[in-house]
Amino acid sequence: MRLLTFVYTNATWLWQALLMLGVFCYSFYDAFVQHLATGMWYAVARGCGQLLRQVLLVSLLVPLCRVGYTVLQNRVHIFALYRRRTDHIIYGSLVILASLVHVLAHVMHNPGVLQTDAARSGTWMLGASIFVLAGSYATHRFTPLWSYTRHFFRPHQVGAVIFLVGYAFHVSVWQTAIVLALFLADKLFEGYARTFKTTVESTSPGKNIFQLTLKLPKDFPVSLPGQYCLLSFPAIEDRWECLHPFTIVSRDANTLVFFIQRRGDWTTKFKELLDKNQACSNLPVVVKGPFGKGLQSNDKLTYICAGIGMTPIVALQPQGEVHVIQKTSEEMDLYKERQQQAPKLERLYLSQEEPPEGWLRKTDLKLESIVVDAEDGVYACVPKPMEREIWRMCLKHGKVFFTETC
Ligand SMILES: Cc1cc2nc3c(=O)[nH]c(=O)nc-3n(C[C@H](O)[C@H](O)[C@H](O)COP(=O)(O)OP(=O)(O)OC[C@H]3O[C@@H](n4cnc5c(N)ncnc54)[C@H](O)[C@@H]3O)c2cc1C
Repeated sequence: MRLLTFVYTNATWLWQALLMLGVFCYSFYDAFVQHLATGMWYAVARGCGQLLRQVLLVSLLVPLCRVGYTVLQNRVHIFALYRRRTDHIIYGSLVILASLVHVLAHVMHNPGVLQTDAARSGTWMLGASIFVLAGSYATHRFTPLWSYTRHFFRPHQVGAVIFLVGYAFHVSVWQTAIVLALFLADKLFEGYARTFKTTVESTSPGKNIFQLTLKLPKDFPVSLPGQYCLLSFPAIEDRWECLHPFTIVSRDANTLVFFIQRRGDWTTKFKELLDKNQACSNLPVVVKGPFGKGLQSNDKLTYICAGIGMTPIVALQPQGEVHVIQKTSEEMDLYKERQQQAPKLERLYLSQEEPPEGWLRKTDLKLESIVVDAEDGVYACVPKPMEREIWRMCLKHGKVFFTETC
């Protein structure tokens, strides 16, 4: 019964996942049967090669085209396009898996293949993908001393370039050129139509989360709740720093508002800048956006947000039941200030201080009962461990689970 409920409530993304699986299998099978006569291992190698070439590499690239993907996410509601980062990670992992099987099968069929040029370029490609995945994961996990740009973004770019050069030699220069042209066209369009210069209107520094209000850039495109912008401050950026994503909390005729939480290098420098120059008004800012999937309010969904995860919910002002988990009253006030019209703001939790009236302690937080009570499903914007917990509970109780929108 639970399985049936789960299938029913998750039908919108389940059929898309199954369709995708069908496309993967067909692409593999098509080349596999064509080459079976030459030998089983050879057929497996060619099947994986075709899968990589026709499906996986294109799938890996699509989420990188930020503008194109944003348009797809908001116009075409198929292929679960609301999870840009997760999809990119899934396809990246599948690329590595299929490449490993491809190499192994070639070696099993003919060990002499290792002496060929194709093996050399293939090794570069495989090495580059493993470098991107394992290297960035390891540095992220074990040495969070470096900023995101250094431990993740730059190694990723270097790995991608090596991979593409290897791909041009291994498969086809033309296919590589087409893939690159698509990517560059997206970047050019981003630079031309989605990049704006503006200045800070005001800031209100808090202990941990600051409110940043920017003057709305001229010709800034229409934005949807849940969408984000990439911000960069020439005053704090060093040349190698990448732009940082922040969700638009609100937008009116003259301003764009963001909540920024202090985390690492960049946000700490931003906090120092605020401390030196309290208001920071007229400070130049570069804004790129808006990007990402807009959220739609659904009164059958229950919304759970924690910490800075409140930003998409504040932007959405949802109709459904909302649960807000915050550590400090300062963060709660920031939420409440903006969220006066929420019709079903039901239970609120506070973890450290004495809770004010209407707020519960952390020990009273019963995530499972929130999930059980949810009518159709849950949208959660919470730290990863809690996200996994809610996801498991949704699976257990047959509810739909939504998370990140980028
Ligand atoms: C779509 C999206 C929306 C976000 N909205 C908000 C928001 O409204 N308010 C807020 O305070 N924070 C938000 N964040 C997180 C915010 O971008 C990071 O906290 C910030 O960039 C940290 O930078 P740092 O140099 O201080 O810390 P670092 O130590 O460099 O990074 C800390 C962590 O932040 C994330 N991060 C940093 N830079 C990037 C980047 N360029 N792209 C993707 N992830 C990055 C990574 O997970 C990284 O491990 C959002 C992130 C994403 C992906």
